[in-house]
Amino acid sequence: METIQSHIALLPSPGMGHLIPLTEFAKRLVLHHNFLVTLILPSDGSPMSAQKSYLQSLPATITPIYLPSVSFDDLPEDTRVETRIALTISRSLPAIHDALLQLLITKPCSRPISALVVDLFGSNAFRLARDLNMSSYMFFTSTAMSFSLLVHLPKLDQTYTCEYRDLTEAVVLPGCVPLLGKDFLDAIQERKNDAYKLLLELCKEYGSADGILINSFVELEFGALKALKEEGWFKPPIYPVGPLIQTRSINEVVPESSDCLEWLNNQPTKSVLFICLGSGGTLSQEQINEMAFGLEMSEQRFLWIVRSPHQTAANAAFFTNKSVNNPLNFLPKGFLERTKEKGLVVPSWAPQIQVLSHGSTGGFVSHCGWNSVLESIVHGVPLIAWPLYAEQKMNAVLLTEDLKAALKVKADKIGLVGREQIAKLAKDLIQGDEGKDVRDKMKQLKDAAARAFEPDGSSSISLAQVAQKMSVLKTK
Ligand code: UDP
Repeated sequence: METIQSHIALLPSPGMGHLIPLTEFAKRLVLHHNFLVTLILPSDGSPMSAQKSYLQSLPATITPIYLPSVSFDDLPEDTRVETRIALTISRSLPAIHDALLQLLITKPCSRPISALVVDLFGSNAFRLARDLNMSSYMFFTSTAMSFSLLVHLPKLDQTYTCEYRDLTEAVVLPGCVPLLGKDFLDAIQERKNDAYKLLLELCKEYGSADGILINSFVELEFGALKALKEEGWFKPPIYPVGPLIQTRSINEVVPESSDCLEWLNNQPTKSVLFICLGSGGTLSQEQINEMAFGLEMSEQRFLWIVRSPHQTAANAAFFTNKSVNNPLNFLPKGFLERTKEKGLVVPSWAPQIQVLSHGSTGGFVSHCGWNSVLESIVHGVPLIAWPLYAEQKMNAVLLTEDLKAALKVKADKIGLVGREQIAKLAKDLIQGDEGKDVRDKMKQLKDAAARAFEPDGSSSISLAQVAQKMSVLKTK
């Protein structure tokens, strides 16, 4: 006799940084809790080849539904990425409703869907779930500290009238390291901007979820998670279920980007500094020059994933993951020739998980996207925190000031990180005394992350609890 499987729908908003953790969560549910999962995928019409490759590698128990793309013809050129992401979801709500309705029709071997899981941009879909008698959950893809900031945002909005970056005193969120307003996530830095208003509205919905899953773990963010669970005023139960990272690389299906793994095979143990700024991070031309000269001066081995410089925004490649021009053309003259014994430069994209798990990798210059941070922790690779956009400055504060698992770059008045500093940090992290504590701390975090997913580990227990709750069909 076939068992009846639980069936839920996940709604990731655009961006690999949202898709990957939600899908990894789906894989866990399928593998360990006998679920069927449908991924409902809204689109703004951008080419998403990395996304498609990733989805092609999924097991048959996870089915994608691609929604028709929404139009942004009415938006001004300078519309923020966060506004575009939020609008992709809100403009897709009728299509999401139709998809959910279809999924409610019982299939022979599965129950009708019992729950909808969204990410931080999807909370306005909770009402669709409620109307269709499903429970609604949020999978928060970043830190408990960032989640705490967002749930406190309506209160902060009432308390302060100035821009948060102008606050003279640090804000102390319960259980968290003090935060300066200038380090708050980008999307809330301009209160008149639509991105702020949209996010504020979305945050107000968070409290109506049946549960909040956070891609973090108790041993990593003990204080923030404890405070969220115990504070009393925030009703939904909190489930720390991380670190959920890619178990199968996007690049297994993009073999041409794997040359760097062969190069790594020929380098000494823990000797290589890996530089990769996420799926959308870009540097200015001046910063590319400083990075190049800094790496050269450091005399360390390096693997640098380079993108063409941006003119306007550090997240210029967010929707495409691609550089428009050949990025190698933007390196200083003679750099590749002079450093060919020590370094490898790869345009645009690398198999990051395999690089981080490779024995030759000894450090990681990261933009502190939370997936990259978790991937580094799982593989015990110490970090240089180089935050660029979104909530990355907050992640860098957590890593450097609370966890002490990363060295941090310090930009000058015009926002440039100089070559001398880059050279020093690279040396310190890979082999210097100054980097020893950070290297040791990363080893401890790696062990703690592994323990969280042992059968009786904190995240395994949380996952089992929430899976059980999600599988229950609501009664009318
Ligand atoms: N990634 C990758 N190769 C690259 C750049 C990024 O495989 O060259 C993956 C990385 O492993 C991570 C994700 O893309 O899983 C990026 O997510 P993150 O949260 O770090 O940053 P975001 O791209 O959302 O800013």
